[in-house]
Amino acid sequence: MKLGGYLGKVARVDLSTNKVKIEDLRWEWVPSYIGGKGLGFKYLYEELSPNVDPLSPANKLIFMTGPLTGTTAPAAAKYVVVTKSPYTGTILDSYFGGFFGAKLKFTGFDALIVEGKAKKPVYLFIIDGKVEVKDASHLRGKGAYDTIDIIKKDEGDANLSVLAIGPAGERLVKFASINVDVIWNAGRGGSGAVLGSKNLKAVAINGHGSAPIASKDEFVKVAKELTEKSVLTEANMWAKTDGTPIIVDMSNNVGILLTRYYKSGIFEEADKINTDIVKAHLVEVRACYACPLACKRLVKVKNRVIKAPEYETLATAGSNCGIGDFEAIAEFNYMCGDLGIDTISTANTIALVMELYEEGLLKKDQIDGIEANFGNAEALLRLAEKIGLNEGFGKILSGGTRGLIETLGLNPEKYAVDVKGLEVPGYDPRGTWGMALAYSTADRGACHLRAWAVSQDAFGKMEPKTFVGKPALVKNLEDLNSVKWSLIICDFWLINYEGMAKLLSPVWGVTVRPEELNLIGERIWNLGRLFNIREGFSRKNDKLPPKFFKQPLVGGPTNGVKVSEEHFEKALTEYYSIRGWNEMGIPKKETLKRLSLTD
Ligand code: SF4
Repeated sequence: MKLGGYLGKVARVDLSTNKVKIEDLRWEWVPSYIGGKGLGFKYLYEELSPNVDPLSPANKLIFMTGPLTGTTAPAAAKYVVVTKSPYTGTILDSYFGGFFGAKLKFTGFDALIVEGKAKKPVYLFIIDGKVEVKDASHLRGKGAYDTIDIIKKDEGDANLSVLAIGPAGERLVKFASINVDVIWNAGRGGSGAVLGSKNLKAVAINGHGSAPIASKDEFVKVAKELTEKSVLTEANMWAKTDGTPIIVDMSNNVGILLTRYYKSGIFEEADKINTDIVKAHLVEVRACYACPLACKRLVKVKNRVIKAPEYETLATAGSNCGIGDFEAIAEFNYMCGDLGIDTISTANTIALVMELYEEGLLKKDQIDGIEANFGNAEALLRLAEKIGLNEGFGKILSGGTRGLIETLGLNPEKYAVDVKGLEVPGYDPRGTWGMALAYSTADRGACHLRAWAVSQDAFGKMEPKTFVGKPALVKNLEDLNSVKWSLIICDFWLINYEGMAKLLSPVWGVTVRPEELNLIGERIWNLGRLFNIREGFSRKNDKLPPKFFKQPLVGGPTNGVKVSEEHFEKALTEYYSIRGWNEMGIPKKETLKRLSLTD
């Protein structure tokens, strides 16, 4: 059945043969997987053979829009790249803000699938349904920002939206990111390295079509109503007035702000990296396509106007490196976007270097002459550059914290901070046990966005240092977010199933019930699980690093706090049981049948 919200076309590019194929969208998958995360997962699950090397030509990049992309639905501008992660080996969905997704729709495509490997660097040029593979040899080694600029100038179109990788992606740094139009990034999990492995330097896009909506008048009415009553509300205003930097003080106040490589949950210089400092540097705000929240902040730092770091970067490059210098963190953030590296993995890896340097386990001459004490902003910037260029000591650091621990033969019980290879981001799980479970069960490794359980415990009304009620909370949030990121709605809009059903119904042109969406969310989450199981993941990988069970936090309201391993294991079993999975975390037959996942 054809539904509104889709153009029905997918552009498939095989870089090995230089062939472009325009094919029909797999309409039969749409009602069950919607778009974005769900449809991206379905395509990858069906098309990718198990155990493929993520950096081989066989891996695929699936750029997917959702049924709301390109419409005037509020906070619905994002789009996603789905691939197998070279950093974790899991399925990976990584989201961008900006205009690229809307423009992909306006060119006439719901999705772009890239496979194979070009013989030399290329970029894709997509205008109004025409896809060309163009030589990018002249862009080799360039930063993402220059690449974007040069392509726009060469093509003579300042309105192009361009996504690009920097040198890190080309040099296969495993947590390489993708930058879009300078301001936005798909950060986590290494999608930039997958582009690099395919010799794909950039994708430039523009289009003049529109997004199809089945019942336009009804949609306009619903979108307006939801914008007024659900988006531009008192509760959401923080996104507009402060953005994520507001979370620095929230985390510090409850003792979960990562500090000095996960030693403490409070940072004595939090007031130097918080929302007030961002506001003091603020020059202007920017919005993604048609978004009334306009949460992206541009700040003036050393006479340059650059994007302000988000909370995760302030926490990982700031407090976790002991750095209370906002301008240095903003510089780091800008540099990471240009080099094309994930700020969270980069900063946490540098925080580990600082920890080892202070313990005397790494000497200055081992790290290219850099003095790497906590608090040393110059070390942060120099090490980030080395990682992004994959040179000198940066070659070792380009494997992240896990790579460094393995190379130096360190005890992972003491130093590891990752789940499935992805480092724990801005909320220390010892002070928010909801996040402990969310990190350990997240499909792409320790991710804060799959289930932002901290909003309910450390920042909410639930007791943070207990697992009571957390398995159901995490499961429900994971399912809800699976639907949100299939529509694709931004995480800053705290929309529920009712709101999503209301918005999707006029776009699709059929009545969508909230409980149907709930089931779809559960199906998508289970499909991601099946992908990971096929790659060899199971309960053994849903494990919080031992550090969080064994080393208590020091200072502040969480002084002496750690996660109870016994309670964690029980909570994980309860989570599996609620999901209809067995004790090893494998979905039971009846669960797969209920979710129509048996084929
Ligand atoms: S809330 Fe911010 S990130 Fe989300 S769509 Fe709007 S401007 Fe983009």
